[in-house]
Order: sequence, then C-alpha cells, then structure tokens
Amino acid sequence: MSNIHNILSKQKAFFSTQKTKDVTYRLELLKALKSEILSKEKAIYKALKEDFNKSEFESFISEFGLVVSELNLVIKNLKKWAKPKRVKASLLTFPSKDYIYKNPYGNVLVIGPWNYPFLLTMEPLIMAVASGNTVVLKPSELTQKTSSLIAEIIANVFPKEVATVCQGDKDISTQLLAQKWDYIFFTGSAKVGTIVAKAAAKYLTPITLELGGKSPCIVDDTTDLKLTARRIVWGKFLNGGQTCIAADYLIVKKNIKEVFIEMLKKEIIRAYGNNPKRSKDFPRIIDKKNTERLAKALNNVDVIFGGEIDIENKYIAPTLVDSPNLDSQLMTDEIFGPILPILHYKTEKDIENIIWNSEKPLAFYIFSKNISFVENTLKKFEFGGGAVNDLLIHFGNPKLPFGGVGSSGMGTYHGKHGFNTFSHEKSIVKRGTWIDPPARYAPYGFKKLNI
Ligand code: NAD
Repeated sequence: MSNIHNILSKQKAFFSTQKTKDVTYRLELLKALKSEILSKEKAIYKALKEDFNKSEFESFISEFGLVVSELNLVIKNLKKWAKPKRVKASLLTFPSKDYIYKNPYGNVLVIGPWNYPFLLTMEPLIMAVASGNTVVLKPSELTQKTSSLIAEIIANVFPKEVATVCQGDKDISTQLLAQKWDYIFFTGSAKVGTIVAKAAAKYLTPITLELGGKSPCIVDDTTDLKLTARRIVWGKFLNGGQTCIAADYLIVKKNIKEVFIEMLKKEIIRAYGNNPKRSKDFPRIIDKKNTERLAKALNNVDVIFGGEIDIENKYIAPTLVDSPNLDSQLMTDEIFGPILPILHYKTEKDIENIIWNSEKPLAFYIFSKNISFVENTLKKFEFGGGAVNDLLIHFGNPKLPFGGVGSSGMGTYHGKHGFNTFSHEKSIVKRGTWIDPPARYAPYGFKKLNI
C-alpha cells in the first residue's frame, strides 16, 4: 500500500509542476511510445501467443495495428484537439470572447482486462497521456507475458511520475481503488465495474466503465446468407469468442434457420479445419476457470456442432447450440467464449421477447436488406453501438465513440472521443470592458429584461 501511495504522491507532485500541460512534452512522450512499440512488435505477438495462443495476424489486426493507428491519429491531431475552442458569444455574455479549454483531470487510474490485453490498456493510457494526465495502469493478472511486456514498454518510455504500471490481481486493484484519483477508466466485467463505481463514489471521482453483456445478432431472410455466415463466424470466433463485442447469440428468421446453420458449419470448417485444436489461428480460453465455466454452460443443451472440451489444455471447439432455454446459463450470462447459441423468430415480438430478457447490451448486430426493418430495430433497442451486415467493425472507426449503456458501461472513447474523455472542459468567458450596460446592477427598481 505504501508503494502505491508513494507512486501516486509522486504523480500528484509532478502534475502540479504543470509540465504535462505542455502539449509539446506530451507529443514527445507519445512519439517515444510509438517507436518503442514499433521496436517491440515481434515481442508483443510472442507474448500474446504465449498467453492464449493468439495468432500473429489476429494480434496485428485486433491489438497492435489499432494501437499504432490510435498513436498516429493523436500525434497528428493533438495540437488541434488541445487548443482552446472559441464558441459564439451569447446575448447575455456580449461583449465577450467565449472559449472551451481542454484541461487534464490530473491523476488517472486505468484498470484493464485480459481479453485484448495490449489494446485495452494502451488505448486509454495513450489518450490519458495525450490529454495531459499522469497514469497508473493496472493490466490483467491473467495475461502475465503481455502485462510484463507492457510494464517494460511503459518503463522504457515514461518517467514514473508520468506513467507507470502496477502489476497484480484484485488485491492490488483494491489497494489502487482505495486511493483518491482524479479519473478512473475501467474495462472489465459489470460485477467488478460495480466495485469500481462504489470506490469512485467515495471521492466523487469521475469514471468511464467499459463493460460487457449479451450482444444479440439478428439474421433475417433477405440477407446474403453465405456472406453473413462468413462474417459471423469471423466476428464470433476471433480471439476464441473472448471479445466484449462478439455476437453473444443469434436470432435467425425461422424459415432460413436450418440452411443457415449448415452454412455456419461449413464456414467454421473452412476457417479452422475439421480439427480446430490443430489450427494455428484458433486461440485458447484464457484459463482453466473460464474453460470450466464454459464447459458447464454446455451441460443439458442441444450441441449441434463442435462441443469438444479439453479443460487441461484450455480448449473449447467452436460450438453451435440450438435454441437453449432463455433461463439457461448460456442465455442469462455473458458467454465470452467460442459457443454460439442459435435462436429463431417468426415475428418482431419474438425478437423483443429474447432481447428484453437481458440487460442493455454493449453491441448489437443485424443482417438484413430490409431497410425499414433495420431502421426500426436499431431505434427500438438500447445498446452501446453496433453494425449492420457485419460484426465488430464499428470498433475500428475512431470517429465513432465506443462505449456501453446501462449495465454494459458508461462513457466512451476512441480517437478524439478518448481525448475528450480524459479532458475536463472549462468554460471561459473573456469579457470586454469597452461597454458596460447598466441593466444588471442594483438598484433594480422597475427594470425588466426582455429575453
Ligand atoms: P474482470 O472484471 O474480471 O477484471 C478486469 C480487471 O479488474 C482486471 O485487471 C482484474 O485484476 C480487476 N479485478 C478483478 N476483480 C476485482 C475486484 N474484486 N476488485 C477490483 N479489481 C478487480 O474482467 P475480465 O475477466 O478481465 O474481462 C472480461 C469482461 O470484460 C467481460 O465482461 C467483457 O465483456 C468485459 N470487457 C469489456 C470491454 C469493453 O470495451 N466494454 C472490453 C473487454 C472486455
């Protein structure tokens, strides 16, 4: 605890020197971070492979590449984003020049998950530093290799009083959360999100919570079924299904369900072969505990494809399950693994009954060419964000704010939205002195304002 207290005291003292308010200083750090990350590219892939058999290609498209493009974006735009923004004066402030100043909060705590251990720790760290904050980063204890490499990268680039890594499990997290921070950015489960929110409430610390949930994917009978199957298999089984915005389950129009299931099977075999255990591209479950959790979810359900479980080797095959009950573990808990339940609908009411059985999801997907069905559905349901005719790709556009709603999270980030998340907006009116209408001053008498 005293070590954590020490680190934070040093960061508080450094923040008060005003050094991090200097945009040029921030840019130097971010450029140094970029070259350090580029020089460690192979080591990052190796760590992810060792942590959960993630392939180099997946590590590039879903972690390394996204971090580097976020760095490129912020390095290119930081001066513009950080500048005070002039807004129109109002009748009440006239004569004046009115501005929004972007100010760092101060000392930020970032707590990360294991499923995209590099991306989901580095992205918030980059934006917190870009906004002029200091950062303590707590990566997941379940991805030892990647977390240690992150600690090394941060130590090579940042003075400890600007950014540092505290490794460890929930005990370290608990100690960190007991401190007084100026902002907390948490990515992980809703259960731990609640713990973070309670800890933050003690000091009224603002927070972003990036959580999970049961993200539905609707497939109607107007869509190109082959392409849909290909995209769903990619987005569901990427990272072994351990993606917060993976489609948790499918709701398929009844009249195409059987033929669509056959297409899903073919597509899984095309992607991972007849024995996915031998595929270099199919990741493992992060640990035995999660493998056991997933194995239990497969009890007493109708497995129609896959279903092979090897707890010792943390392996679950890409698996399809037909119509599990809405009160089964598969349909009440976030799956977070390579198991895809397939439900069906005849009417829009059936879709409502399924989706409204869970809390507001993080993501939402719909495959259809029926424009009014798509628009009505997007407007009807509450969810963080999503895509039409694809999975996951909304994460990749930094112009789109990324985040959940309700129990899938609060607050957003990515690109400029991330910079804004870690900046407090100060409203400043610079009042003119060349005129001073007397109307507001006492004695008021019979004065009346015409607004
Ligand atoms: P988790 O909540 O178990 O752990 C996240 C972090 O919290 C880890 O660093 C862990 O050490 C710490 N932690 C665990 N227990 C704690 C406690 N009692 N007190 C304080 N800290 C504690 O989540 P996870 O298993 O790493 O990740 C999976 C979850 O994260 C899923 O629900 C997934 O949907 C969600 N997720 C969300 C996003 C998003 O962007 N919204 C991204 C990835 C994962």
